[in-house]
This record gives sequence, structure tokens and C-alpha cells, in this order.
Amino acid sequence: PVDVLVVGAGLAAAQTVAALRSHGFAGDVRVLGAEDVPPYDRPPLSKHLLDRTEPAWLTDELGLDLHGLADDVRLGVAARGLRVEPGRPGAAVLTDEGEHRASCVVLATGSHAVGVPAWPSALTLHTAADADRLRTALDGGPRRLVVVGAGWIGAEVAGVAAAAGHHVTVVEARDAPLATGLGGRIGALTVPWYAAAGVDLRTRAQVTDVGDAGVRLLDGTVLPADVVLVAVGARPATAWLADALPLHGGAVPVDESYRVLAPAGPLDGLLAVGDVALRRSARYGWVPGGHWDEALRGPDLLVRRLLATDDDGSELTPYVFSTQLGHDLTLFGLPAADDAPVVLGDPADGGWSVLWSRGTDGPVTAALTVDRPRDVGAARRLLAGPDLPHVRLDGETTLAALPR
Ligand code: FAD
Repeated sequence: PVDVLVVGAGLAAAQTVAALRSHGFAGDVRVLGAEDVPPYDRPPLSKHLLDRTEPAWLTDELGLDLHGLADDVRLGVAARGLRVEPGRPGAAVLTDEGEHRASCVVLATGSHAVGVPAWPSALTLHTAADADRLRTALDGGPRRLVVVGAGWIGAEVAGVAAAAGHHVTVVEARDAPLATGLGGRIGALTVPWYAAAGVDLRTRAQVTDVGDAGVRLLDGTVLPADVVLVAVGARPATAWLADALPLHGGAVPVDESYRVLAPAGPLDGLLAVGDVALRRSARYGWVPGGHWDEALRGPDLLVRRLLATDDDGSELTPYVFSTQLGHDLTLFGLPAADDAPVVLGDPADGGWSVLWSRGTDGPVTAALTVDRPRDVGAARRLLAGPDLPHVRLDGETTLAALPR
């Protein structure tokens, strides 16, 4: 390409710009970002909600100077539409200040928190401005906080709020916390963490209304609340793409080289990476965004394939980390709903790990570590090879003890 336009100014966007320059791209690079602040890191927004009031700027965290690397950075400018013209590489991006065209456009608009329009007083957490609002609402003495959703972010916020002395209740519709990411059986192993942290966890509880009196559940219970946080997941920020592209479940489907996929094949000069993308993978099928590592490392692969420089054909292993209710978790790979989990170690007594395999004799598809730093490297290695591994456990209780 002769020029690149990156849409979005979060981690995936900033890393794309950095990778273009580090791989020697000398053409024009422009960035459009809807938020009017420079790129920052999102994981600390929940983990350090109450003890870090300033965003974790990527300039400081990763030494990444977007303004120095790109020719033009427009913050506070949202993309409103996209126009792809047949036979012409790239696209035109429409904004309130006019149209921006480039021979290569990288979609990196990330995601947004799923809110419930019928509950206007409930807060969500995705941006630094959201974190400010939540912090302000919790300011000035113990508050009654109800968190709707025991996923990654709900669990993290519940933990830090309870540790700061707030009265926290977590309401979860499913049987267990983290059921979407880990399945109900493994998610249930985190239930005792809530009581130990002083958090009241209500599973199989459906919220029907959030109002002045508090949070009303389907069984008629009303949970009094000063502050309500809805943490029921994130959705790719693709509303602006409207009918310009075919979406899969709201995300932009891309191939192994992050090229946007249309029914007839990849589009020329149109790429997507980070939370906004749904990546095709020979190993895992379709890999959704939504996790930091994909936005951190995906852009380097995208750029290497775009510029055809030293591509070893590797693909990213899905990787999630979380610190919640006093516990450290890492998850490598992508457990499918019918993969069978085996727990290594005793969850009631210190650190433990989980291996998921496909069927009884099938390959390992995912590994989780909980409070076991020594297993993290082993889990990463296990899933990083060219093929999914077959593992015989032979009574092993840690991943670090598995033969290399
Ligand atoms: P984003 O970070 O969402 O950035 C996209 C940017 O695009 C935003 O700045 C947005 O304003 C902008 N944008 C959106 N629409 C438009 C438009 N139309 N025009 C122009 N710009 C637009 N992941 C983990 O693996 N572990 C964690 O512990 C973890 N903790 C998290 C905690 C919180 C509170 C949150 C919110 C997320 C967390 N994540 C975590 C997820 C991780 O932060 C994301 O996967 C990562 O930020 C994705 O980066 P991105 O650049 O793709 O998207």
C-alpha cells in the first residue's frame, strides 16, 4: 500500500502503527479515534479502579508514541461510515469532518460494553470516562454496589470494591461465575472466592429491573443499591459499518492474515484486528476478539503479512489473564462447550490448573492456571506448538510437571 488509515485509537490501532514503522513502512499513516484522549490500556480500569485515577497511557506502558509514529492523528473524530468501491483497493471512511480515503484501511474500533437501555441509571465499564464515573459514584464512604454479571470484569470490580470496604452483591443469571469463558463446572470452582472476599454472590438470578429502589430480581427480591454496574459482556464496535461489510455475530470476519472476508474472498486493502475482528483459525475455527493479547500481538502479524516480511506462518494462541478476588488466572487456548476439563491440584488448597481436551482421547484445546505462576509458562508452551498436543496425565497434578 502507499498509505494506511487506521480507524480506532486503542491498543490494536496503536500497535498497528508501531508495527508498520518497525517493519519499515515509510508511506503515509493516519489514525482516527473516537475518544478524545490518547490511547491507554484498559485492563487497569477494573483491576486498579480505585487506586489509579489516571489512565495507563500507552506512551508510558509500552513506550509507544502514536503522534511521533503516525503522520496524522485525529482524536475525538469518530468514523460514521465506510465505502468500499469494487476494483479499488482500500476504502473511504466517512466522518463528521469529511471523507478520508486510503489504499489500505485497518479497522481497529474495538468493542463497547453491552448496556441495557431500559436501565439508564446503571453504569458500564469500558472507557477511562466510564471508570471515572464509577469511581465518583463509589466515592465518599461505603456504598451498596450491585454488579450484574459475574464475568471477567464483574468479578474484578467486585473484588476491588469489596476490598475497599463497599458492600458488594454480584448477580449472575447462569449457574456459576465465568461460565461463558470457562464453562459452568470450572466456573463453579471460583464461587468460594466471593464469600472469602466478603462479596454476596447470587447465581441463577435474573435481573428484571434497575430503578431507584435498587435491583429487582425475577423471584421478587429487591437488592437495595447506591450504584449498579452492568458487566454482561462486550460487543464489537461495528454499528458504524452498517451495511458496508458482511458481519459475523456483529464482528468483522478476517482470515489468517487479518484481511476482511467477504463472501467472494478477502477484500483488497481492508483489514481488521483486535476486539472488532473475528479471526479465522485452522486450529480453533473462529477466534473472537475481546482480549488484550490479541490486540497487543495481532497487529505485528497483520503488518508482516501485509508487507510480506519474514512471515513464519504462526498464529496467536488465544490468551486471557485476570486478577480477581485475590486470585491470578491465565487461560491459553479456547475451550469449546463440549471439551472435557480435568482439574490438576486441589482448588480448596492453593493453586490449581485445568486442561481441556476434545473428546476422551482428543488433543488438549485449552489450559487454565489459577494462582500457579510455575504453570503459566508450561501452559503457554503446551498450546504454542504447531499442533494441538495430546497429553497423558499419568497422575500429574501440575502442568509444570508434564514432560516437555
Ligand atoms: P479498544 O481498546 O476498545 O479500542 C478501540 C478504540 O476505537 C477505542 O478507543 C474507541 O473509542 C475507538 N472507536 C470505536 N468506534 C470508533 C469509530 N466509529 N471511529 C473511530 N474510533 C472508534 N483483556 C484481557 O485479556 N485481560 C484483562 O484482564 C482485561 N481486562 C479488561 C478490563 C476492562 C475494564 C476492559 C474494558 C477490557 C479488558 N480487557 C482485558 C480487554 C482488552 O482491554 C481489550 O481486548 C483491548 O483493549 C482491545 O483493544 P482494541 O484496540 O481492539 O479495542
